[in-house]
Amino acid sequence: MTLPPKNDTEAEIFSEWDFPDGLLNFDGQEFIFPKGFHAQASARWVEDGLLLVNIAVSSEVEGECARCLAPANLEISGELGYLYCSHGAEELEGFDDFMPVEVSHFGRVIDVMPQIRESIYTLLPTKILCREDCKGLCPVCGKNLNEGSCSCESDDIDPRLEALRNFKSEQ
Ligand SMILES: [Zn+2]
Ligand SMILES: [Zn+2]
Repeated sequence: MTLPPKNDTEAEIFSEWDFPDGLLNFDGQEFIFPKGFHAQASARWVEDGLLLVNIAVSSEVEGECARCLAPANLEISGELGYLYCSHGAEELEGFDDFMPVEVSHFGRVIDVMPQIRESIYTLLPTKILCREDCKGLCPVCGKNLNEGSCSCESDDIDPRLEALRNFKSEQ
């Protein structure tokens, strides 16, 4: 994106991007972006050599339900702040909420794609559920328990209670 005019801390530059649909592999999980995703950024000089960039991303992601493996959707959106700095990240006190990005020098434009990608990664859920109370699959027969119960015996005992039961029988 284009940088605001040098030495002008009032000027703020906005850019936005629409990314095509695609697929992302993250942390061993596959996420699909069926409608692509949208990113916006605004840039403003804090001082010479210190550029504040806010990145907002939003998207719909599709993945596998962590419990029953059915397709599941989730809306993600959020905003992250970055501080691009050409004079060492140790001078960034007072900007704790911003992630520092060291650059060797500022030209006329700046590449914020790595930070947009990072923002998406940060917002991805550790797991997607098809619904909050998904019952998952039966560990014995593999039936999707959202569609009804199976005839397997329920051995669903809390391991702590199990320990207690063993303890009693030993007496
Ligand atoms: Zn599920
Ligand atoms: Zn079963």
